[in-house]
Parts: sequence; C-alpha cells; structure tokens
Amino acid sequence: MIIFGIETSCDETSAAVVEDGRRLLSNVVASQMEEHARFGGVVPELASRRHVEALLPVFRQALSEAGVTWAEIDAIAVTNRPGLLGALLVGTSAAKALGMALKKPVVPVHHIEAHLYANWLVAPPAPMDGGERGGADYPAVALVVSGGHTDLFHLRGHGDYVLLGRTRDDAAGEAFDKCARLMGLGYPGGPAMQRAAEGGNPKAIAFPRALLPGTHEFSFSGLKTSVRYAMQGENLPSLSDIAASFQEAVVDVLSKKTVAAAKELGVEHVLLAGGVSANTRLREVMQERCDKAGLALFYPPVALCTDNAAMIACAGYWYLQNGRTSSLDFETRASEPLAALSGQP
Ligand code: ATP
Ligand code: MG
Ligand code: FE
Repeated sequence: MIIFGIETSCDETSAAVVEDGRRLLSNVVASQMEEHARFGGVVPELASRRHVEALLPVFRQALSEAGVTWAEIDAIAVTNRPGLLGALLVGTSAAKALGMALKKPVVPVHHIEAHLYANWLVAPPAPMDGGERGGADYPAVALVVSGGHTDLFHLRGHGDYVLLGRTRDDAAGEAFDKCARLMGLGYPGGPAMQRAAEGGNPKAIAFPRALLPGTHEFSFSGLKTSVRYAMQGENLPSLSDIAASFQEAVVDVLSKKTVAAAKELGVEHVLLAGGVSANTRLREVMQERCDKAGLALFYPPVALCTDNAAMIACAGYWYLQNGRTSSLDFETRASEPLAALSGQP
C-alpha cells in the first residue's frame, strides 16, 4: 500500500511517499526556517503563505523522487492537528482536493502521534520486523520532546496512549530555542546549542534540574532564568561551557524521568520522538541509562525527528491498518491532546 503524506503544521512544507508504512520512497522537506529566523521564531501568517507557494513543487518532487504517479497512490495522509491553524489548512485543503480528484481515501493524522510513528519507519513491530534494531512495539514509554511538547506517554496500543506527565511551562525544544536566543546563537536554537556545546565542559555550571519527584512532569523555566543570569555574570563563562552545561541539565532530567517511568510501568521499550530527540547528547545519555536498566531504546534517524511528511504517511498506514478511516469533511484543529484519542482529558 502506497501512501502520500503531507505535513504543513508549522514551518516545514513536506510531502513523502511511503510504502507499507516502512519503505521510504521519498521525503521532501522545504523548510522556511531562514525566513522566520530574522523574526526569531515562526510567524504564523508568513508560514501559511509560504506553504501555499511551496506545496505543489514539493508534491511534484516527492512523486518524481519516488518514481510513482498519482494513479499508484492508494491513500493520502495529512496532518490535521495540532499546529498553526492557517498552516494546517493549506495542507488539509490540498489533501481533500487530491482525495476528491483521485477518488482515494484521505486520512487525517495527529501530528504528535506521527512523531511517535517515525520510530516505526526504521523499527516496525513484529511480525513485519526486518529492521536491524528490532521492533519499537507496544507496550512502551515514549518521550515526546519537540518545539511545542514535552510529554511522557505510556503507549498501550495503537491510538491508546496515556499521558503520564508533561511540562508545566516551557517545552524542551522551546527551552533550547529561548536559551539559544539569550545567548545570541540564533534560530532554531536546538542545533545551534548542540554545536555551541561541542568542546564545552558540561560540568562548568551546575544548572538547576527540576526533577519534580513523585510526578512525571517537567519544568524548564527555572533553567532558562539561570541561563539568563549566567549570561549577565561578571566573569562570563565561555558560551560553549554555558551551552554544554545547559544541554547536560536538560538531558539529565529528560533521561532520568523517562527511565524511571519505564521501570515503574514495567515496560521494556522506550521511544524518543520530536525535534529534540535529534540531540546527540540526549541519545547518548538515554542509551547509557536504558542499557543500564535493561530497556530497549528507539529513536528515529535525525532527519525524521523534526517535522517531515514520511512520519505522517507512516502513521496514516497504521491508521488504515487499524480501521481509523475518515470521511472528507474532517476538521482541522489548532490543538488536541494526544491522550484525547483514547478518551482521556
Ligand atoms: P510540535 O511537534 O510540538 O508541534 P514542532 O513541530 O515545531 O513542535 P519539531 O519540528 O518536532 O517541533 O522540533 C523542533 C524543535 O526541536 C525546535 O525547538 C528545535 O530547536 C529542536 N531541535 C532540533 N534539533 C535539535 C537538536 N539537535 N538538539 C536540541 N533540540 C533540537
Ligand atoms: Mg519546524
Ligand atoms: Fe513537530
């Protein structure tokens, strides 16, 4: 089954062709990052306009790189929630038009669920499993760390996700972006911070770690304030020491709490998802701590951690396998918690 995926929830216009939820035939990502960089963050109205301009060229490139025609596409999957409403509407309108013209089903996909499914592009579950790293199957604990989310989930099955805890203030990616901005490292902050941290001493500054014992919640606003103070000090530490110490504090908290949740629930699989899971240090420390705890760790390849349509097409495939179809009159929504899928608040 060949699925054409569409992603326009934020500042990446992306289209992908994926076969059977795992064979990536193409994944074209047109990023508007540079245009938003001069504003220090994503400007929603600008994002919508750029999606309109980029959409058709990106669609054509995705088809041609995959070497398929529209006639060979079995279904269309598109992000319809959560995200910037105007930006989402560009993608969902195009998907509906395609569905009507091609007389093919259109599957509306939850963006955060798709971030989770990015793991299945490289480690699909048994019995389909042929991947080197084995299947990232349920039950599992998943840490979603992106620009808008820091959520810890208990994944019990397809569409059955229990939210264990989330951030009380900034998302992890937001913390990277805001602190990088404070440090004059530019936007997006995550990759810039990681580069700045190279060669820095992660123990140079003992930044606070909000462990919030007894909860699965997170908080990064205190850390942000500490970085601000560190930047104002008289004997200013080097930027690379601040970056390395900041990164270490974030990674320490994320990995400790994720491993603790997995142990508490007795699951054997841990999944990372979202843009911050591209972070090399997070992957390293998670791997060390999961190994020590006897947990199998999964994370997507770097290119599939940030927003992309391949993960949307993959999720769409699993929606269809599980009978989650939709009529063409589905809504486009700015927000919807993932756990709402299984009836939780
Ligand atoms: P959401 O998925 O919550 O709607 P989003 O789609 O904007 O938000 P993603 O595209 O998943 O978020 O991730 C973008 C975030 O990931 C940004 O905050 C960015 O700084 C962060 N990020 C990307 N690469 C890295 C990295 N190497 N280290 C740390 N953070 C990173
Ligand atoms: Mg983005
Ligand atoms: Fe995202």
